[in-house]
Amino acid sequence: MPGDASANSEPIIRYRGVTFSYDRSDSSVAPALDRVTLDIRKGERLGILGPNGGGKSTLLKLTLGLLTGYSGSIEIEGHDPHAAAARRLIGYVPQRVEAELAFPISARHAASMAATLGCSALGGVPREIRERVERALEVVGASSFADKPVGRLSGGQLQRVMIARALASNARILLLDEPTVGIDPSGQRQFAELIARLHDELGLTTVVVSHDLRTVAASCDRVACLARTLHYHDSPQGLTPAVLAEVFRHDAAAVFGDLHVDAHRASECGHDHGHDHGHTHDQSHHHDHPGGGGGKP
Ligand code: ADP
Ligand code: MG
Repeated sequence: MPGDASANSEPIIRYRGVTFSYDRSDSSVAPALDRVTLDIRKGERLGILGPNGGGKSTLLKLTLGLLTGYSGSIEIEGHDPHAAAARRLIGYVPQRVEAELAFPISARHAASMAATLGCSALGGVPREIRERVERALEVVGASSFADKPVGRLSGGQLQRVMIARALASNARILLLDEPTVGIDPSGQRQFAELIARLHDELGLTTVVVSHDLRTVAASCDRVACLARTLHYHDSPQGLTPAVLAEVFRHDAAAVFGDLHVDAHRASECGHDHGHDHGHTHDQSHHHDHPGGGGGKP
């Protein structure tokens, strides 16, 4: 089982006490992230679930080195975010790529953009990279529309192309921000299948960030709950569907197949899932428990 295999492996991304404010001059505003401590394990499919404004995109941008000025530490295979970006350890599938849609480029071209960074314009793209792009398009099922302009792709197709782009650059970690927003139900199913395949066949570590419980339930083995600070991770008990139902009452009706969630205290995520609670938490629940993963069947 994928979840079991990754349960005891070393962290591939390690967050320790990460705090970040967009406006540090105004101390009356709670930080967007408050002392976030989390290990992402090699080869796992982690979901980061939380309400809008909970800091999910901020955490991803810090991880990618797109935002600086945080306190605490972030290590990606031992590198800080800047160094990890230079090594292209992480593939990023952003929330929506409106700007890109306006460019008259093909899906294939879009998929090759990360892999061909650094190739000289005169020398052209080396065959090895071209082959990598073709393989990546094939893996995600995008070969048949590779010649189409990106502006004519459906949301789901475009997402596949963005995933192919990350694969073509040899990323071993995929971060996906709200991957199912604007994707129809059949596209969402295909998305979950694709994540499972990338995990099983390529051994990728995938991090899906979403406010949508359905998305996380369908595509993840383990879940952390982020609402400015981290509420759950790495406990052996597992957060039960009943607790999640309480936390995300509105989404819960249609869900609950095989989701495994690691939880500390069930009651904590529920009270103020939303806003303005940066300073009210006892932080003692941030410690790893020994023997994590024991909740897996
Ligand atoms: P999520 O992705 O979970 O919806 P975000 O990380 O986008 O949350 O936002 C977290 C908090 O930071 C929110 O309060 C949001 O208003 C604020 N925020 C996000 N981006 C910026 C920005 N560029 N400047 C100032 N505040 C921001
Ligand atoms: Mg976001």
